Amino acid sequence: MPAKYILVGSGLAGGLLAAYLGRRGYEVDLYERRADPREGNIVGGRSINLAISTRGIHALEQIGIAQEALQHAIPMRGRMIHDESGALHFSPYDVDPKKCINSIGRAALNTTVIEAAQRYSNVRVHFNHKCTDVDLDTATAQFETENGKLAARGDAVIGVDGAFSAVRKSMQGDMTNFQYDESYLAHGYKELTIPPGPGGSWRMEKNALHIWPRKSFMMIALPNPDGSFTCTLFWQFEGPRSFATTHSDDDVHRFFDEEFPDAVSIMPTLLEDFRQNPTGSLVTIRCAPWFYRDKVCLLGDAAHAVVPFYGQGMNAAFEDCVVLDECLEEFPNDRERVFTEYFYRRKENADALADLAIGNFIEMRDKTASKAFRAKKKLDHLLEAALPGTYLPLYTMVTFTQIPYAQAARRARLQDQIVYGALVFLSVVLIALLLRSIAR
Ligand SMILES: Cc1cc2nc3c(=O)[nH]c(=O)nc-3n(C[C@H](O)[C@H](O)[C@H](O)COP(=O)(O)OP(=O)(O)OC[C@H]3O[C@@H](n4cnc5c(N)ncnc54)[C@H](O)[C@@H]3O)c2cc1C
Repeated sequence: MPAKYILVGSGLAGGLLAAYLGRRGYEVDLYERRADPREGNIVGGRSINLAISTRGIHALEQIGIAQEALQHAIPMRGRMIHDESGALHFSPYDVDPKKCINSIGRAALNTTVIEAAQRYSNVRVHFNHKCTDVDLDTATAQFETENGKLAARGDAVIGVDGAFSAVRKSMQGDMTNFQYDESYLAHGYKELTIPPGPGGSWRMEKNALHIWPRKSFMMIALPNPDGSFTCTLFWQFEGPRSFATTHSDDDVHRFFDEEFPDAVSIMPTLLEDFRQNPTGSLVTIRCAPWFYRDKVCLLGDAAHAVVPFYGQGMNAAFEDCVVLDECLEEFPNDRERVFTEYFYRRKENADALADLAIGNFIEMRDKTASKAFRAKKKLDHLLEAALPGTYLPLYTMVTFTQIPYAQAARRARLQDQIVYGALVFLSVVLIALLLRSIAR
């Protein structure tokens, strides 16, 4: 008899994991607290669109759905920086103009992965089932449904239920050695809209990720296929100028007029959006271990939620699916070994990504506007072109390769040390030559 997996959460990673497990012939029951996204159920509380790059695309390719998922995606070839005067500066992501990240709608991607899972007759998806508790020893999950309570027992339960995971909560409650750390940024986020232009055209450069960096805060915008852009304002919750002190329509308008004058003129629904859309929080979650014996396991945000500034949370969650699948291939008869190996292969990388994501927040909001930043990016691209395969900028390694995150972070630190060392050495030689020529 094939093993039976109970999956909790059919978000991005849950759907994809169900497809991977279904392909291996396991019995899979996927439970989701929300209604079916195909019934027009908007995914609230998270971004409308998101950037998918090499790691995520690779995971989709492995199950044969990359093309289907990417058909409506919009390639973004670099950052379009909007400075305070409204002037634009374009900074490509890579020396190779073909390398781009892709703006993709969350709801459409969610539907694609769920439908991929449902193509396997051994996968069943149950919407409107909210997990309330998991009995770790018996791999039994408790659900609340419209028709009352239900218990589902499997050989293993996998928590793919996002940053506020109920499965993880049960592990926290019942495992004495469970380590848990959550930390919130002082910034929250709010989604706003730039509607399409005439005839569904884009009112700004379509193939770019737009950034309005303003030192302690920023706004970004990603294109959608219908000609609109989804903007996200990342701003302090508290403080003299913050979400907390911006109440009236006048406050909102004054802030946008001062900070984003070129955007405000193309945001006719700004006041409505600002009032109606929730202000989300940004959390980093680190925990360990991600498994309990051969009975329970965590994957995606449930195991390692990160802040969104590297555009890698979903990409990392998809990469988890690939690694878990590889472990299932290697140890088909030992599920505890599968969970253990998966955890050790991923944990260091998830921790490295959490640090990279926080670091990139500072880079995006503060440094992208500076000439020094643009000069460093140019130097990165020069070195990459001069030393192909030898010098790889950190952004390139994270976004356009599958080099494990921790290895990418270590390699970038080493590269920086060598480059700065060489620059210091060259400067000393130049100064010495100059002084000698003056002395003559
Ligand atoms: C503003 C923002 C922008 C982002 N941009 C990017 C980006 O550009 N690129 C990128 O790679 N990542 C991005 N991310 C991160 C990305 O959204 C997450 O990493 C990704 O959604 C994780 O997938 P998941 O399946 O683990 O969790 P989720 O997508 O959160 O899915 C969890 C699912 O579990 C369900 N669930 C929760 N609790 C229960 C329960 N008790 N019972 C049953 N079901 C339950 C939920 O309803 C949901 O469907 C962004 C995040 C935010 C907040």
